[in-house]
Amino acid sequence: MGKSRKIEDPSCSECGQLNCYRHDKQYPSFCATEAASPALVEDTRRTYAGDGLDGTLARAAAEVEGRYYGRISRCEEIVAFAHRIAARRIGIATCFGLIEETRLFAKILRLAGLDPVTVLCKVGSVDKEAIGIADETKIRPGTFEAACNPILQARTLNAAKTDLNVIVGLCVGHDALFTRHSDAPVTTLITKDRLTGHNPAVALYTLHSYSKRILDPERMRDL
Ligand code: SF4
Repeated sequence: MGKSRKIEDPSCSECGQLNCYRHDKQYPSFCATEAASPALVEDTRRTYAGDGLDGTLARAAAEVEGRYYGRISRCEEIVAFAHRIAARRIGIATCFGLIEETRLFAKILRLAGLDPVTVLCKVGSVDKEAIGIADETKIRPGTFEAACNPILQARTLNAAKTDLNVIVGLCVGHDALFTRHSDAPVTTLITKDRLTGHNPAVALYTLHSYSKRILDPERMRDL
């Protein structure tokens, strides 16, 4: 276990004040709010208050948060958000391993009067070796094993002219690629974490007990 070192470049994760939220404490010396240019703050404020898509998304997100705080699940929050941004066609970029959850979610969206369209991560069915992944790195070496194709997932949903896309359990990195190539705004229903039943916060909640291996710097630098 390594000794904790002084952080030379602190940022919000090292702030004990969080004063930007309610103005009930002090700003620290390294505060991102104090460092931000007033013109930039004003530019973002104007964007959120404006008539464009960014403003619509920002106000809908805040309204869902405030109105339903702690009272509805993320499934329901996505429906409430979709209604508020007038999204009807909802793209679902799903992982193969979460297809049953996706079937349920699509059913819920239909019940809510929305129009889901799903694209599985294996769309295009390109073998992993064809993108330069060695056979021995496959989950089952010696077999056909399709690579995830998040760019094709995004392009298929772009062609379907979805209004909002929802990630259901894409892998770390595949989600980044999907988001980069999606035309529609992207939100997440399920964040994949195979070890914790898709609840990555569990690793943080158990950092000093079941997950303490994560605090071993040698091991972590070697991952
Ligand atoms: S913006 Fe300033 S007050 Fe807010 S969390 Fe960051 S450092 Fe703390």
